[in-house]
Amino acid sequence: MKDEILICDCSSAEHQMVLRFDDDKDLGRMVYVEIHLVNKRWYERLWMGIKYIFGYKCCYGNFEEMILSPKHARQIYDIYRFLNRPNLEKGQQDDSN
Ligand SMILES: [Zn+2]
Repeated sequence: MKDEILICDCSSAEHQMVLRFDDDKDLGRMVYVEIHLVNKRWYERLWMGIKYIFGYKCCYGNFEEMILSPKHARQIYDIYRFLNRPNLEKGQQDDSN
């Protein structure tokens, strides 16, 4: 499994995605995207939890952002290449790298 880290263009280490490239024999090729969650203070998490329990919905949704710029293009292209790589029979060489 190959890992890559994308850090947001704002340079905050809290805004990052970890890409895990997995070529599983049974499940096939997949890329897992793990998104780092911002660590809020305990009372902020408690307040958010209370709002969640009572079904509060923000009109903007509960999203954070990740700013991608041209410097991320190679990593995004790597996802494309990895997922679209032809399946090889045993004994064949992969020339796509
Ligand atoms: Zn950011």
